[in-house]
Amino acid sequence: MNTPKAVVVGAGIAGLATAIALSQLNWRVALLEQRPRLRGDDTGALVWPNGIRAAASLGLANSLEAVSHPVSNLRLRKIDGGTIATVGPQLLSANSSEPTMILQGAAFHEALVSHLGSNVEVHPSTAVTRIDLVHLAAGDATRRWEADLIVAADGTDSILRHHIDETAKVTSASTVMFQATIPPHRAPDLDSDAVITFGPANRRFSYASLGQTGAAWAATVPGGLRPESDQIQHELINRWFADWPEPIGQLIGATRPGELSQSAVRYLWPLPSDFQHCTDQRGALLVGDAAHALAPELAQGTSLALEDAATLKWCLTNSAGITAALALFEKVRRPRVTRLARQARRLHNVAGRSTGVAGQLLRAAPGSLIGRQIKQGFDWHLPGGGGAHSR
Ligand SMILES: Cc1cc2nc3c(=O)[nH]c(=O)nc-3n(C[C@H](O)[C@H](O)[C@H](O)COP(=O)(O)OP(=O)(O)OC[C@H]3O[C@@H](n4cnc5c(N)ncnc54)[C@H](O)[C@@H]3O)c2cc1C
Repeated sequence: MNTPKAVVVGAGIAGLATAIALSQLNWRVALLEQRPRLRGDDTGALVWPNGIRAAASLGLANSLEAVSHPVSNLRLRKIDGGTIATVGPQLLSANSSEPTMILQGAAFHEALVSHLGSNVEVHPSTAVTRIDLVHLAAGDATRRWEADLIVAADGTDSILRHHIDETAKVTSASTVMFQATIPPHRAPDLDSDAVITFGPANRRFSYASLGQTGAAWAATVPGGLRPESDQIQHELINRWFADWPEPIGQLIGATRPGELSQSAVRYLWPLPSDFQHCTDQRGALLVGDAAHALAPELAQGTSLALEDAATLKWCLTNSAGITAALALFEKVRRPRVTRLARQARRLHNVAGRSTGVAGQLLRAAPGSLIGRQIKQGFDWHLPGGGGAHSR
């Protein structure tokens, strides 16, 4: 059989991990990315035991560990500093050898790029605008790549998704998240807990230590993307969180305006009714946020993107042909991501109400209850339990 060819659209975590997985199976891969450089954002992201297991099955565990810092406790607290709940190490490590980690997004992205095999051709500055699902090809205004498999890893606004499925909807959470990582010499002393503080009017501030590499924080506020300069945004964040408990003020004060990034918080609901489309022994597949961008409360996006890539590799290895592999992918991924998307949306609706019964319930929920919700997300292994131990 000829060497199979794949086009992967988008070089975020999902696209890079998928390109690595396919190259490990000796596919030829064209990785098309609209940005001029393959670069991740300077943000922190939680990665749970399921994501670490998926990374291990792709031989990425050491790289992930090198750019991450373990999280001892996840603490939810009120604006007066009082504790809502603490999710401790037994739950966070799911009683397994994989702890929960906070990773430095840009460094992990760079590590993934360094794992791309020589059979992956990278095409930056290539914004895919055309998809041909009949002849299986993707391209921009001037070029076209034919393939046996097209993988859309092009994020929440995926263009391929519209070709495969019209039912999925991007839902705005009507909030914006400001994020930054700060280097160690400017970061305040932090223990190894990840802390989320809930305030009035749907405001929230999370932070965690990145160990030797500094600290990461994220501030969520109602509204849309801010048009002001970095300097003014920094002043606004300072003002919005002025009377919040430390080290929030210290973290904001230690951040340079140019280190801020902002994103509108959005998620997919309902999810696409199909993640895949097959034509004559070839096909197209949605992965990562293109398939299942979750409401942010479970912080499972990075982990799920790694799971998708590991599962695709497993499906291709254990199926006779692409069509069968994509059908198997749909069968094993659908129940899990639907359950998590529903759970994330429910939590999002509760956490978004700082007043009223739902908000009080969240604040009254014991740590074990919140821990159990979070732990359900960890409960993932490759079908058959294979491949989780290669580092
Ligand atoms: C504010 C925020 C905070 C988050 N915090 C966390 C967290 O704490 N923990 C966690 O696990 N997850 C978190 N996530 C989610 C997580 O970042 C994503 O789920 C994960 O990185 C997977 O993303 P992706 O690769 O599917 O998509 P993306 O990261 O969106 O990557 C898509 C890529 O495709 C490219 N692209 C798009 N369209 C085209 C096109 N037409 N042609 C070519 N290229 C294209 C884009 O330039 C981009 O490089 C957060 C997300 C946001 C927005």
